[in-house]
Parts: sequence; structure tokens; C-alpha cells
Amino acid sequence: MSGSISQTTNETIFTKIINKEIPADILYEDELALAFSDINPQAPIHFLVIPKKPITTINAIQEEDKALLGHLYWVAANLAEKHGFAKDGYRAVMNCNENGGQTVYHIHLHVLAGKAMGWPPYQNKL
Ligand code: 5GP
Repeated sequence: MSGSISQTTNETIFTKIINKEIPADILYEDELALAFSDINPQAPIHFLVIPKKPITTINAIQEEDKALLGHLYWVAANLAEKHGFAKDGYRAVMNCNENGGQTVYHIHLHVLAGKAMGWPPYQNKL
């Protein structure tokens, strides 16, 4: 997966996954959101929860999207319960732009679980 997708376009690989033009291991779908396994997992369990609305970054979230963002966390929490890792715990994070490590410019909640996570989530000192 290239990291060079322009943040000025709303069309990303995730649009193709939403439209079922490319395959994905879909864990949940409703009219607002889709959850699917990450193709390059960074933990024993790693999936993404995305809105069907192609919002490019956290910075592009509009007031009208506030409930949608809460919905993404609601989907994550329900999947955590369903897959049995809610009690042990997990991380649910969004990366924003280059310094945040964002490579796909369609917002997505990373849900990582199955092991204890370190903090802070970066290697270098301040
Ligand atoms: P970001 O770096 O933007 O926060 O996260 C993008 C995530 O999307 C990465 O974890 C990457 O592995 C995942 N990803 C990129 N392309 C695909 C794809 O085609 N299918 C799936 N399932 N995940 C993808």
C-alpha cells in the first residue's frame, strides 16, 4: 500500500473496499460504517473501523459528523465485546496527517488488541 495518496482527494483504497470492488475481511457493516481486518496487522487483533462518508483526516471533520465519529467508537466497542477482548483492553486510535503516521486519507479508527500495548506509541525521545 503506497503512502502517497493525496489528501486532496476523497477517493482512496477504502472507497473500493466500501464498494466491494476489492476484497476485505469484513467484520461489521451498517449504513454508516464498515469494519474490516487490517491487511498489515500490528497486533494479534488489528482491524479498522471507517465511516462510509469519505472524510480525509480528523482535521476535516465537520460539526455534522460528530455523531458519526461517536458511532465509529460504538462499533469498535461492540466488536471488542463480540470478539472477547473488551475486558482485557485494547487501543482505538486515529492517525492524522504525516506526523501522525496517516497513509490512507479516509479516516479510520485502528483497533489493536490481543497483547499489552506500550506507551508512548513511538520510539524516539522528545
Ligand atoms: P494509517 O497509516 O493511514 O493510519 O493506516 C492505514 C492502514 O490501512 C494501515 O494499517 C494499512 O495496513 C491498512 N491498509 C492499507 N491498504 C489496505 C487494504 O487494501 N486493505 C486493508 N484491509 N487494509 C489496508
